[in-house]
Amino acid sequence: MGAEETLKALQAIGFRELYLRKKLSTPSEVSDEKSAKLESHFKSFANCTNCPLHEQRTQVVFGDGNPNSPVVFVGEAPGEEEDKQGKPFVGRAGKYLNKKLKEVLGLEREEVYISNVCKCRPPANRKPTPKEIKACFPYLRKEIEIISPKVICCLGATAGEGVLGKSLPITRVRGQTFPYPYNYKVKVLLTYHPAYILRNPRADKDFTQDMEKLAQLLGL
Ligand code: SF4
Repeated sequence: MGAEETLKALQAIGFRELYLRKKLSTPSEVSDEKSAKLESHFKSFANCTNCPLHEQRTQVVFGDGNPNSPVVFVGEAPGEEEDKQGKPFVGRAGKYLNKKLKEVLGLEREEVYISNVCKCRPPANRKPTPKEIKACFPYLRKEIEIISPKVICCLGATAGEGVLGKSLPITRVRGQTFPYPYNYKVKVLLTYHPAYILRNPRADKDFTQDMEKLAQLLGL
């Protein structure tokens, strides 16, 4: 059924107003160009040994998702499952994030872009050190430059530290926005890491509020 027939059918059963969510899409040539740039960027550091995290990784875990996304989600570093599969946020925390994307923003995971401040798994999932974050950040900075999002949503304090270049108390600053130091037009929204919410389910309410704020910033 075409769009016009669908509208007529809806009117016939009593619908008077329709609210349509914006699709996060742009022309395919823009998408192709960004994908090509990302691919060549990923190739440039696939064998990176710039910090000790290369020693125990299975593979470098690149960012993943829609290169035209108006939001880039940034986590800390790959965990066990991510290291195995070579994709960010595929474990339990990733499933929680996907659920919230759908519930609050009405978005599928494939419509957004997700990455990490460190691209290799720290042994036993320890927090990356400030030196490791500093060594890896230029790769994320380049990804952000290619994607050119409106908003960077930092998931957890480590992501915030990498993106903003300073350590902030996440329980106090979550839900707040800061200018991205490399492009002041881009807003950085800080929130909890999904893994923290799985350990502290009461924080789910705060995370939902932060996703509502993100929806507003994106004009969804
Ligand atoms: S974490 Fe980043 S800087 Fe360190 S080895 Fe992996 S890709 Fe290189």
